Amino acid sequence: MQSFLTPTCNCEEFNLGFKCVPASGVKLEKMDEKGAEGIQVRWLITEKDGAPNFAMRLFELKPKGYSPLHRHNWEHEVYILEGECRVTCERQTKKATAGYVVFIPPNAEHQFANAGKTTLKFICLVPHHK
Ligand SMILES: [Zn+2]
Repeated sequence: MQSFLTPTCNCEEFNLGFKCVPASGVKLEKMDEKGAEGIQVRWLITEKDGAPNFAMRLFELKPKGYSPLHRHNWEHEVYILEGECRVTCERQTKKATAGYVVFIPPNAEHQFANAGKTTLKFICLVPHHK
């Protein structure tokens, strides 16, 4: 029998933690954080899936929606899928559209806002913060 500690993963026979699903099937949750407006999130991959380091989230912002202006000691790695994003990082604001990547360094004050007339969708990776 194959050990679960085997470092190489042949996912056909070793599927502990293997996940392959459409993102649309992951629950879309409302984000009720203070300072947030019109923003929803799908936690695509989390610690519950067995991911030891990173979470993958898919955000959906309605037109005029925005995340809170905030800072924390972990980074964001973002890939814009659809729509128009106005992203602010340390008082610098830029526009990002489908195909753009955004890196928010740790401790930088930042905010994401929908600058368009359609839903803004982006992937945001974060380390699990304890
Ligand atoms: Zn943040």
